Amino acid sequence: MKQISATVISNIELMPGYHLICVDTPAIAATSQPGQFVTVKCGEELTLRRPLSIHKIAKSRQVYFLFKVIGKGTAWLSLCRKGERLDILGPLGHGFYIRPASKKLLLVAGGIGIAPLTFLAQQALGQEKSVTLLLGAHTKDELYPQKLLPDGIKTIITTEDGSYGEEGKVTDILSGHVNWADQIYACGPLAMYNTIAGERQQWQNKKPVQVSLEIRMGCGIGACFSCSIKTKNGMKRVCLDGPVFNLDDVILEEVKI
Ligand SMILES: Cc1cc2nc3c(=O)[nH]c(=O)nc-3n(C[C@H](O)[C@H](O)[C@H](O)COP(=O)(O)OP(=O)(O)OC[C@H]3O[C@@H](n4cnc5c(N)ncnc54)[C@H](O)[C@@H]3O)c2cc1C
Repeated sequence: MKQISATVISNIELMPGYHLICVDTPAIAATSQPGQFVTVKCGEELTLRRPLSIHKIAKSRQVYFLFKVIGKGTAWLSLCRKGERLDILGPLGHGFYIRPASKKLLLVAGGIGIAPLTFLAQQALGQEKSVTLLLGAHTKDELYPQKLLPDGIKTIITTEDGSYGEEGKVTDILSGHVNWADQIYACGPLAMYNTIAGERQQWQNKKPVQVSLEIRMGCGIGACFSCSIKTKNGMKRVCLDGPVFNLDDVILEEVKI
């Protein structure tokens, strides 16, 4: 983990209310694993750093973050311009695990949940795995552009209003792809994990699902315990032991976002 002052290379509004920011930070680019995150100091007056997943790495030194503008911190970040410097701490936490023997990975992204999964796809494709992404959004305007996904990924899209791809939620089509996959990874809202946990009971082969828990956290480095959750293996700190957990281990009804 390093605290770095990184130069902003670009910052664009990719979809309405969603930004893609790229910073130059070779040290974080070299040491990050998919599913890990950083915390960013968003302006002088905000004391708590904001956690953001590593979205993708380019040219061995550029790190991308995809974020939705929610409140003060992300609004501040959305206004950062090329050449400005960002105070970043990372990489933090434990990310996704790819078993060496796995050949086919199924990724399930609900909305901004695409943020950490792109980096996972990037790494998996680099290891010559087959990757299928189920990408869901409320509507076409909120869909992550397919042209920014890594080459070689197979993508199936759902929108809740039917404005693009199949109509419905990404979880509506999940069961049809489960048998194909050696490993399954999901990132999205808590409601999506509840649905997956319910559907999983019907799967013939109850394959494990790794999920990223993006819950509110304080320090991001395991010191304040504010992101502690109850799991089947005892209390865990999301920032240190996660944010990636096996869905099976998480007691979903105890998780507060
Ligand atoms: C491990 C992890 C990875 C994340 N990765 C991404 C990502 O890649 N892209 C993205 O858009 N969002 C991501 N989030 C959520 C993001 O951190 C929050 O949306 C952001 O902190 C909101 O800050 P704000 O000041 O704009 O909003 P405010 O609501 O003003 O924030 C107030 C406080 O709540 C915390 N907070 C608010 N919402 C969340 C949330 N959903 N999760 C965690 N903390 C929250 C903030 O850090 C801050 O301390 C991630 C969260 C975690 C825990």
